[in-house]
Amino acid sequence: MINFQQLAQEYDTPLYVYDAEKIMEKYQSFYDAFDVHDLKIHYACKALSNLSILKLFKNMGAGLDCVSIQEVRLGMKAGFAAEDIIYTPNNVSEQEFDKAIEYGVKINVDNIQMLEYLGINHPGLPLCVRINPHLMAGGHSKISVGHIDSKFGISIHQMPLVNRIVRRLNIPVVGLHVHSGSDILDPDVFIKAADLIFSVADSFEDLTYIDFGSGFKVKYKEGGLYTNIEQFGKIFSERFNAFCKEIGKDLTLRFEPGKYMVSEAGYFLANVNVVKQTTACTFVGIDTGFNHLIRPMFYDAHHEIENISNPNGDQKIYTVVGYICETDTFGADRIINEVRKNDILVFRNAGAYCFSMASNYNSRYRPAEVLVYKGQDYLIRERETFEDLLKGQVEVELEAISQRSKKPIKSVH
Ligand SMILES: *Cc1c(COP(=O)(O)O)cnc(C)c1O
Repeated sequence: MINFQQLAQEYDTPLYVYDAEKIMEKYQSFYDAFDVHDLKIHYACKALSNLSILKLFKNMGAGLDCVSIQEVRLGMKAGFAAEDIIYTPNNVSEQEFDKAIEYGVKINVDNIQMLEYLGINHPGLPLCVRINPHLMAGGHSKISVGHIDSKFGISIHQMPLVNRIVRRLNIPVVGLHVHSGSDILDPDVFIKAADLIFSVADSFEDLTYIDFGSGFKVKYKEGGLYTNIEQFGKIFSERFNAFCKEIGKDLTLRFEPGKYMVSEAGYFLANVNVVKQTTACTFVGIDTGFNHLIRPMFYDAHHEIENISNPNGDQKIYTVVGYICETDTFGADRIINEVRKNDILVFRNAGAYCFSMASNYNSRYRPAEVLVYKGQDYLIRERETFEDLLKGQVEVELEAISQRSKKPIKSVH
């Protein structure tokens, strides 16, 4: 059990806390769920990209999935070998691809224009092609990326064009990739996507792997729905093995889970500044806002909130809000043990897409991050300071007409 009260005291709030053992447990359960010739798990580091977290994944034997050249650089700094990094960007420049190629990471192409560019300018470079299977999947519309109008991937209907380019330029297509979005509840979506990929895979003779992306749903509340990874792994492995047998080739199976790996391992701690009774509800105002945890406001995400300072207090109904100067609701009408000034609230599922989406909006410092392992806590990111807000700013003082010299209005006698 992590002693949140003590961590809040030691490191102050707001504070992100990650449970290393939970991350290890999730990685292990994912790994064990599949029974295939060769499985490689590439942690999607946009979920949580602290170097110490990346190192933890490296030590477990994971690869990385990176969506920007900066994530690639972080991964290499954390010690990942270039060949264990998949670079899966969307709409980036040719220059950025060139940089990634220079680093030697695995290149994933998601549009025809780039396929042509890479085939012509980097002849012989092994590529992976991201296919959009046009399956409606994923939770919130902002995280559903595989549907017909989605900007991601090359349409499965354009495979004749892909094949033509590949043949003409002799591109070794070593991988096929599909990622349909986040929070996919129905494992059938993966199976359907797999069948579609299998149906086009035989035209790529250099194929050595298929990457099925991610989208595994995690439990956000009691009774909430989630992907049963053991069950999924079993069904999926059978399909995958059957396909390998069919084409007479032992392909590597790759996945890129982000949320599944770190969501549950994260906790976000905040201090109660104000308890305010209005005519409509009781607000709990805490020392943070959507600048530090945007998911509720951005995705309508649900994060369980507990009052760890008063676990036996009477349960009451509260609306928990932040300190940002616009609507900033973390949870409406939540049943929480009686909340008093300076109590510490803990948000659950704060590992994925929480710190990594934090900003300095309202000129606030981004929180500190702490990693807990075997009862020991390690500071893995310092709380920002005023200097961080100033960093990179260049002060220019324009000569403006001062408005201060207005004549005082004469008083009438
Ligand atoms: C975001 C993303 C992932 C991770 O998705 P999760 O839902 O966090 O598991 C994997 N692959 C790609 C290409 C992504 O963009």
